[in-house]
Amino acid sequence: MEFIAEILQELKNKSLLRDYTAIESAQEPIVRIKGKEYLSFCSNNYLGLANHPLLKQAAIEAIHQYGCGAGASRLVSGTMTLHTALEKKIAGFKGTEAALLFPAGYMANLGALCAIVSKGDIVIGDKLNHASIIDGCRYSGATFRVYPHNDSNKLESLLQKSSVYRRKLIVTDSVFSMDGDIAPLMEIVSVAKKYDALLMVDDAHATGVFGKQGRGLIEHCGLEGQVEIIMGSLSKAIGSIGGFIAGSQQLIDFLKNKARHFIYTTALPPSVCAASLAGLHLIMENTAPMNNLWDNIRYLNSRLSHFSPLIAGESPIFSFLIGSAKDALDISMKLFQNGILIPAIRPPTVPAGTSRLRVSLMASHEKHHLDRFIETLCNIGFLKEKSS
Ligand SMILES: *Cc1c(COP(=O)(O)O)cnc(C)c1O
Repeated sequence: MEFIAEILQELKNKSLLRDYTAIESAQEPIVRIKGKEYLSFCSNNYLGLANHPLLKQAAIEAIHQYGCGAGASRLVSGTMTLHTALEKKIAGFKGTEAALLFPAGYMANLGALCAIVSKGDIVIGDKLNHASIIDGCRYSGATFRVYPHNDSNKLESLLQKSSVYRRKLIVTDSVFSMDGDIAPLMEIVSVAKKYDALLMVDDAHATGVFGKQGRGLIEHCGLEGQVEIIMGSLSKAIGSIGGFIAGSQQLIDFLKNKARHFIYTTALPPSVCAASLAGLHLIMENTAPMNNLWDNIRYLNSRLSHFSPLIAGESPIFSFLIGSAKDALDISMKLFQNGILIPAIRPPTVPAGTSRLRVSLMASHEKHHLDRFIETLCNIGFLKEKSS
């Protein structure tokens, strides 16, 4: 067991040791840790639904009616009416024929990728794709190639050399989870068509955030019906937990039979499905929270424009690039001492030398929260007023 102590020590020496902070309250802009209040800028609860009264009520009612656990995997006896209702709701929301739930977005990516491609196929992905996509590409057994971040020309040249493969699949995040920028979906869709490749888009961070109706980046780009495989998570803007794949009825029937991460695990608890249904219902009924979120994004962008270094936010995710893991950790610690919670994001989550503070905004943040954040960044000497 000595190797464990050695590895832990080595991580510590490199400022790469990770640990978590336990939060004693709900996922709101202000959270409590060890009895003290902190301003949180690191929750993916973009629309503030995780602690919404209607989601909580729906979950509680589902517990009264159906109990806690689902008791079995979906194909045995774990499928309850709330699972099928939620899948129908997701399909309606995403504008597809059908959808399939997974216990987490992570498993949706692994399950779909491993089912759709295997040895003899090629899967091509963006260099900055989420870890769950990268793992799915690796475990699938297909040939796995990456193109430089958002470089559709490089993607095209990889496809040009891919005619020997049985199936070709392109996979990309829609909003990149660590940089917060967005994929050039129009270009990717047209390249996919040109080379007869399948396209899978991970809409985890865009669902509930992008598009007039909050349906995601595909809606935002006017590309509905042009992406064969849409992946999403119910754990971010939807405020609950679970992952899904949305697509044609045939794709869903195929995944029910072939996706091991769907088949060999217990179904999501009914209460969680009820909360997701309520979250989706709220998003479809009322775009006010999404509009508040975008007000906050615009406000932070405009406040940051007076400072250097300038970080442009294209989404609720703002990345303040720092560089070394140690510096990122130090700044995160200083912010914590000043009542602000933003963990340092370090390798292997991001490439070496690009450690950062990753800020995510919520609809429920108020302007004075954002002001206090900027003030604190200035006070600790991280942000500097532009000289000219
Ligand atoms: C969070 C995330 C996932 C995983 O979703 P979970 O539901 O949290 O497992 C997948 N892809 C991207 C891009 C993500 O940000």
